[in-house]
Amino acid sequence: MSKRDYYDVLGVEKSASADEMKRAYRKLAMKYHPDRNPDDKDAEQKFKELNEAYEVLKDDQKRAAYDRFGHAAFEGGGPGGGGFHGFGGGGAGGFADIFDEMFGEFMGGGRRGGGGRSNTRGADLRYNMEISLEEAFAGKKTTVHVPTSVTCDTCSGSGAKAGTQPKTCTTCGGMGRVRAQQGFFTIERTCPACNGQGKVISDPCPDCGGAGRVRRDKTLEVTIPAGVEDGTRIRLAGEGEAGLRGGPAGDLYIFLSVASHRLFQRDGANIQCRVPIPMTTAALGGSIEVPSIDGGRAKVTIPAGTQTGNQFRLRGKGMSVLRSTARGDMFIQAVVETPMNLTKRQKELLEEFAKENGDDATSPESHGFFKKVKEFFEDLTE
Ligand SMILES: [Zn+2]
Ligand SMILES: [Zn+2]
Repeated sequence: MSKRDYYDVLGVEKSASADEMKRAYRKLAMKYHPDRNPDDKDAEQKFKELNEAYEVLKDDQKRAAYDRFGHAAFEGGGPGGGGFHGFGGGGAGGFADIFDEMFGEFMGGGRRGGGGRSNTRGADLRYNMEISLEEAFAGKKTTVHVPTSVTCDTCSGSGAKAGTQPKTCTTCGGMGRVRAQQGFFTIERTCPACNGQGKVISDPCPDCGGAGRVRRDKTLEVTIPAGVEDGTRIRLAGEGEAGLRGGPAGDLYIFLSVASHRLFQRDGANIQCRVPIPMTTAALGGSIEVPSIDGGRAKVTIPAGTQTGNQFRLRGKGMSVLRSTARGDMFIQAVVETPMNLTKRQKELLEEFAKENGDDATSPESHGFFKKVKEFFEDLTE
């Protein structure tokens, strides 16, 4: 499949400034965002394409590389998702940032959009959720209980008692705003009689006291996608607090934090794991078994002469990547262990080994170190 030119995807000139691109990106991202186009494969594809293009063009270095080499700049580089790693190994991080940016925009947009009647919109709610690293890897379906307000069933949110209607406010004539003279200026402000609603309720609904909403716990199904990062926000549109008297509902934001793991440290899409290696295995070579985040086990070949700090890469054994089938890598860091509490026989064997080991030829670190020490003293005496 041939890829579209990134500038074409954003609909900007090759000479576009960072600001122009940001604007073009936001406009298109709003249009194609999955939240606005549920179950629309075409929009989803366009959204992915857009994010990919913007990831590259917003970064000066990547943009320069793209200008010179085109898509080839981010392809190749070894089998197994080499192209993907062209994105700085932080592919998932990039997406999380984008979501944050998008949601921030939506939140602001919603508030602004209310205009003079913004006080009828329900509040946005925040729900903090901690998940384990395994859950961040595999994704998760869960339910959350949110204490919130929902639209009153009795009056369908109108706030008026059954059989009555809210009446047009006589103070503002239904405008929701009143004008007052103050010196030279005419000040317009929200009508105090109807709180800007333009309507007053003479017979309030007995169940909600005229608010049009009642307090109730809501239970929601939430899907946490695989590959989410610490700090990712998930927005559930319209699942926040119900609006006042039939006003639009706010949104619910789930703020995810990923708990630290007893074995693994996450580094973007990759996983680091420190593994102790017996001194004998490190010296003679061998193999060890390590756990992986997917619950499996992986065998790692330890070459003879392994030092503390040596890394071994297990391709595709890292974290899953948000909205992708790719997986990062796992890095095993060797920590060579000095044996303790030796038996008499073990001591003898090691003492024999030490005698055999007259010079430092078998200890490359020491060899280099003592060479540097010698040079250090020579320089001092000059
Ligand atoms: Zn009611
Ligand atoms: Zn009024």
